[in-house]
Amino acid sequence: MSPDPERFPEIAHRLLAWFFRHRRDLAWREESDPYRVWVSEVMLQQTRVETVGPFYRRFLERFPDISTLAAASEEEVLKLWEGLGYYGRARSLHRAARALSAERGGRFPEDPAAVRALPGIGPYTAAAVLSIAFARPLGVVDGNVVRVVARLLADGGDPASAGLRARVLDFVERSFNSYHPGWINQAWMELGALVCRPVPDCPACPLAFTCRAFQQGRTGELPARRPPAPRPVRKGLLYLLLPPTADAGLRATLTALAAGAAVDSLPDTAPLLLVRRPSRGLLGGLWEFPNVGEEGAGEFCSTHHLQTLGSPGPEVRHAYSHFEVRLRPVPGVLERDVRLAGWTEQRWVAAGELGRYPRPRVHIKAMRRLGLGG
Ligand code: SF4
Repeated sequence: MSPDPERFPEIAHRLLAWFFRHRRDLAWREESDPYRVWVSEVMLQQTRVETVGPFYRRFLERFPDISTLAAASEEEVLKLWEGLGYYGRARSLHRAARALSAERGGRFPEDPAAVRALPGIGPYTAAAVLSIAFARPLGVVDGNVVRVVARLLADGGDPASAGLRARVLDFVERSFNSYHPGWINQAWMELGALVCRPVPDCPACPLAFTCRAFQQGRTGELPARRPPAPRPVRKGLLYLLLPPTADAGLRATLTALAAGAAVDSLPDTAPLLLVRRPSRGLLGGLWEFPNVGEEGAGEFCSTHHLQTLGSPGPEVRHAYSHFEVRLRPVPGVLERDVRLAGWTEQRWVAAGELGRYPRPRVHIKAMRRLGLGG
């Protein structure tokens, strides 16, 4: 149930007054250029606001417009994205920039259907860019906005359900009135991020006057919660491979490093094998050490003529949104010039050069722990 229609102007007015007083100073906040808004929205998908700022600035410094991004190599784009995660976003952004450059002279479209047809742009991102850059009256509904509106309406629906999302979207779009939809959308998200947080600060809220959950004393139970799904753990081995010509000293140092011993790092010139993931799928196009699930390790070594030099070292862990990965480093030698199955490229890379390659977070962690590649 929505509030009385005559309340929407007051809601919008109070919300915006609060927003212009309390909003955070974010790098993309004053942007209305569609390309810059688009980049910020893509980076913000599944990533915290505090994390995005430096990546956003660096990215736009190197790629100030669609044409510059379109002209770059995928590898350079991924390198600038390194550490932000969800690399499919970067590849889609790049592909979309290439399409816009080739078909529209590098201009971002204003037509919602054309925007949604671009790679990596769903209804949420399309609505965000179009409302902020072109003042289109399209509501933007993220988890923060669902929380705020579910409380305002005392709506106990499942926050992940299409039904509640549609009610929230309708509510947000009715709140635009004659204001700029981009500002109103950002104000709803900001209220959820700063005030109507999981534990809300209702006395500081500009909308407490109309909030049913607050008035009914139900802010703690709304929105409805689902028990979190357990995050599966994928355990595997990560191979630090030297070429067969590697001398005994190098082999001994690598073996000690993998075991977690406090020894000097490998010389910067020591060659280690890096492999490149296929360009589609999670972490696509990134470079990493060869790795395999624990259960497949024996077959992996025998198929690829891979001789291990020691036992697996201490685990390196990284949590992704839907699973956790735990890899243990194993020192070894690739005895023959074999092509490893499952990757699109492989290269011997000097230890001091590893940091030049875009890599998944768990491999960066492993390299740092081993004193390799930064
Ligand atoms: Fe959220 Fe409290 Fe404001 Fe209601 S009054 S919208 S629960 S912060």
